[in-house]
Amino acid sequence: MSICRSCCQSIREKEIIKTVIQTNQILILIIDYEAIIRKILRLYLEQEGYQIVEAQSGTEALSIFEKQHPDIVILDTILPDMDGFECCIQLQSLDESKCTPILMIADIEDDQSVDRAFEMGAIDYFTKPIHLPMLRQRIKRILEQSQLQKKLIVKNLELQRLVIIDELTQVANRRGFEEYLAQEWQRMAREQQPFSLIIWDVDFFKSYNDTYGHLSGDRCLKEIAKTIKNFLKRSTDLIARYGGEEFAAILPNTDVEGATSLAQTICSAIRTLAIPHRNSLVSSHVTLSAGLATAIPSPGSDFEQIILAADQSLYQAKAAGRNRFLHNSYH
Ligand code: GH3
Ligand code: MG
Ligand code: MG
Repeated sequence: MSICRSCCQSIREKEIIKTVIQTNQILILIIDYEAIIRKILRLYLEQEGYQIVEAQSGTEALSIFEKQHPDIVILDTILPDMDGFECCIQLQSLDESKCTPILMIADIEDDQSVDRAFEMGAIDYFTKPIHLPMLRQRIKRILEQSQLQKKLIVKNLELQRLVIIDELTQVANRRGFEEYLAQEWQRMAREQQPFSLIIWDVDFFKSYNDTYGHLSGDRCLKEIAKTIKNFLKRSTDLIARYGGEEFAAILPNTDVEGATSLAQTICSAIRTLAIPHRNSLVSSHVTLSAGLATAIPSPGSDFEQIILAADQSLYQAKAAGRNRFLHNSYH
């Protein structure tokens, strides 16, 4: 699964959620060259409360399918511009949810066509003349099954998402961080582009908890995560909770100047929040220290090295007095 930065929600998940939400009104795509068959099916199925959209060729069907995402497809085996079986395969390749049922109808019921229809991914097969009450019942059952399947996929994807999200701050957790880092590190190695990593650590946070209580500490961490997130503008940037009071930003296609400016902006934005911290030894407010590292990854190299370099800069920032950031550039 490839991950995007808005809390690691995958593109596919968004597509499937959309299809489930849209199905309060069921849309059926009828693909048949014969106008009279389309009309009979339309009139009958509209009476059942379904919305109908018609196509008389494979090309037209594919275009409608892509735009309107029907919930079920009724497809004739013979079309003017392509074989119905070929159309069945192409429809499935366009189907983001991977669970839109295709029901095939044919003039004759020869063994070969029936086998082929199911092999190509059709969920059912009817011969003409179509027994309409039978068709109605089959559609009802098939739709129930496919709705259930879509809901299961959404639940599964939601569970997958929870595995990589930090519950307190709702940004990526350490696991999400590592998965995304590995993915983007490889991408930057292929593209030979600069990759930057920033790690922030809250200064004197143990004494913040001791002074204001753990719940205030939690609120403070949430506020910091929200602030960092707001400054990460590119769709490929990702913020993660790297450790207890440590946050990291993964910044693909970002050079030393870009990362330095971001680290600086965020450290000063946290100062501007002016969260009181009377027992900090460097300020009367909560501050961050940050370590940055930038590299153009060499193909096949390990991403661990950029973590070590950013960690080292962070350690130096702490040793140099905290409330600052330091940079480490290497090849
Ligand atoms: P330094 O400036 O050197 O970073 O000092 P520090 O006190 O921030 O660092 P230290 O590693 O000694 O303490 C980190 C503290 O962060 C201790 C721990 O209780 C707190 N912490 C870690 N996770 C959480 C959390 O989820 N909620 C709260 N409230 N505190 C947390
Ligand atoms: Mg720490
Ligand atoms: Mg700390």
